Amino acid sequence: MSSVTEHTKVNTLALVAHDNCKLKMIDWVSRHRLPLQNKRLVTTGTTGRMIEDRLGKGLDILRVKSGPLGGDQQIGAKIAEGSIDALIFFWDPLEPMSHDPDIKALLRVATLWNIPIACNESSADFLVSSPLFKGYERVVPDFDAHNARQISTGIPVDEKKCS
Ligand code: PGA
Repeated sequence: MSSVTEHTKVNTLALVAHDNCKLKMIDWVSRHRLPLQNKRLVTTGTTGRMIEDRLGKGLDILRVKSGPLGGDQQIGAKIAEGSIDALIFFWDPLEPMSHDPDIKALLRVATLWNIPIACNESSADFLVSSPLFKGYERVVPDFDAHNARQISTGIPVDEKKCS
């Protein structure tokens, strides 16, 4: 797989917290309010509502659906489209979740596209206080070879018509 390097500024962060981690997320956002103030925050529904309720105005928050109702997948789609630059995901390591496949998919897509991911407060602290938060050379994987790959079906290409 080849790749290209792209100058990336962390302008849009996704924030997701499972129920037992929501207070941690609110505390984290509150502690880092200054660097987050001029960023767009894309959150799952309840995480975003609670941040807005507790921390009030001044944050640019776009709420998607609640995680278990498809919100994790919406965030994953935005990562694949290139419109999210980093993911802060406080997932709960002690609780089974109904939407476990969606959680795994979100982590997979974020890993695939090589965006910074932080899954606990310490790594989120490192991320937001890194000098790279202001801009860095991100290796963006190039999937041209994947997209152009030929799948052998045994049928010549011009006979492959779906009617
Ligand atoms: P929520 O979703 O913010 O709507 O609770 C988080 C999740 O469980 O993925």
